[in-house]
Amino acid sequence: MAEETMISKNFIEQEIDKDLREGVYDKVVTRFPPEPNGYLHIGHAKSILLNYGLAKEYGGTFHLRFDDTNPTKEKTEFVDSIKRDVAWLGVDFEEELYFASDYFDKMYEAAVTLIKKGKAYVCDLTPEEIREYRGTLTQPGKDSPYRNRTVEENLDLFERMKNGEFEDGSKVLRAKIDMSAGNINMRDPILYRIARMSHHNTGDNWCIYPMYDFAHPIEDAVEGISHSICTLEFEDHRPLYEWVVREVGFERPPRQIEFAKLYLTNVVTGKRYIKKLVEDGIVDGWDDPRLVSISALRRRGFTPESIKMFMELSGVSKAQSSSDYAMLEYCIREDLKLKRPRMMAVLDPIKLVIDNYPQGQTEQLSVANNMENPELGERMVPFSGELYINRDDFMIEPPKKYFRLFPGNEVRLMNAYFVTCTGYETDEDGNVTVVHADYDPETKSGSGFNARKVKGTIHWVNADTAVKAEVRLYENIVDEEKGVYNKEDGSLNINPDSLKVLTECYLEPALKDAKPYDSFQFVRQGFFCVDNKDSTSEHLVFNRIVSLKSSYKPNK
Ligand code: ATP
Ligand code: MG
Repeated sequence: MAEETMISKNFIEQEIDKDLREGVYDKVVTRFPPEPNGYLHIGHAKSILLNYGLAKEYGGTFHLRFDDTNPTKEKTEFVDSIKRDVAWLGVDFEEELYFASDYFDKMYEAAVTLIKKGKAYVCDLTPEEIREYRGTLTQPGKDSPYRNRTVEENLDLFERMKNGEFEDGSKVLRAKIDMSAGNINMRDPILYRIARMSHHNTGDNWCIYPMYDFAHPIEDAVEGISHSICTLEFEDHRPLYEWVVREVGFERPPRQIEFAKLYLTNVVTGKRYIKKLVEDGIVDGWDDPRLVSISALRRRGFTPESIKMFMELSGVSKAQSSSDYAMLEYCIREDLKLKRPRMMAVLDPIKLVIDNYPQGQTEQLSVANNMENPELGERMVPFSGELYINRDDFMIEPPKKYFRLFPGNEVRLMNAYFVTCTGYETDEDGNVTVVHADYDPETKSGSGFNARKVKGTIHWVNADTAVKAEVRLYENIVDEEKGVYNKEDGSLNINPDSLKVLTECYLEPALKDAKPYDSFQFVRQGFFCVDNKDSTSEHLVFNRIVSLKSSYKPNK
């Protein structure tokens, strides 16, 4: 079965078409190379789906490669979470799973090759001196006094660096390119540094580690990647990427193509900021549903399909721009609309007593699970003379155009009968505690009754069979008006009301056995998903994925 193209024809596909036509490559091999130093977020999902989509589209191969060449920040915990997230997005990588640290030997050999060609040298300048000698955007750099060491001396020193004869930071291996190059990345960049750090994969085998700009092109080339697709900040590194694969002598070197990162309005994606939110206890871990890490989106109730749809709508481009969070919300609504049952749930309850309904009687009403999708079938919903309705579906003195319950007014109880409000009770503070009504037995839903019409329909839950639950409502973690970052000090502008917990919600009994990640539409309110961390069969917890109202209009 042909896989659907994940993201529609774009400039990257045009480049690939050209490369295939000209015979530069005979097969498309792409990769996603995360550094295992944090959780993946929605921006990474873009890169994953783009690379995987291209591999599928061209009948090629996709590699998941952990870029674990920097032992300081890497953790096995992140490797596991990244695998879980990539798999959840529907990407099949088990056969093509790689670790950059498996190539340390090859990288070392590549460095030796460069030294032998006179293209790399060991430099003893201090980090400060190296910075000084590098020059600036407007001033060329100066040659290092160690630049003209002989090949033999460099080979000897580099081997001794590897053998641990020198102190951390005392020497580096540098490429010998051009200290006056306009592109600062080409001014004899560092290829290897000395750092005595244990690596999660290679332990203490190495005390020298390659720099990203040297390691990355080699990783790609070793794996036979054809198109190394990365984000725009690497555009200025492309000449170095090309220099490395050419000088090391790879036969069919990969080609780097850059695209613009995905940015979302009013969300926090930077690892640094998320880490701070977690550490400051503002959010409940990396998977807090207000975040847009993939695990947070999953916990909130987003589906892989909705994320793919979002990536298709936002497209791939060379120009930096921001996508609207409302578009992501539109995608999850679209995805769940026909797939999920529509249930009745009362989030802010008051009692509705139907005084003329036979005392002690309960009847079962047959209700369509999703009116727009008959395939989802029907369920039975209990009804009696004591119900819960939402507090805001009743008003003592309604404004104009309020068609819900108020004294004397008749409304339809969704899937049940017409009721007319006959009165209400209040507590000593004047808060409404009970609403009274009479029902008309002739008006049962589905009975064909059409003698009169009512303007308002409200939903309800039968009181004595209701399931009590906690419902969490979310808003942006940052203040929408002020923007994500504080202009003065760069800190986050936190929205103090980003989480609202409703502890006394009543759901219809069919929701009693809902399991983590199950999601539903709660009619008139939104889509909700059972929380995977805190929900138990005794204490159900739902996250609101998205409300039903939309501020986003797709331009189809
Ligand atoms: P962050 O800066 O958010 O922590 P990162 O770039 O440091 O992310 P890596 O693990 O180095 O994270 O990235 C893996 C891949 O994901 C890289 O190829 C990177 O270009 C890509 N990527 C990261 N952020 C985005 C984004 N917002 N949109 C698209 N691709 C992204
Ligand atoms: Mg990074």
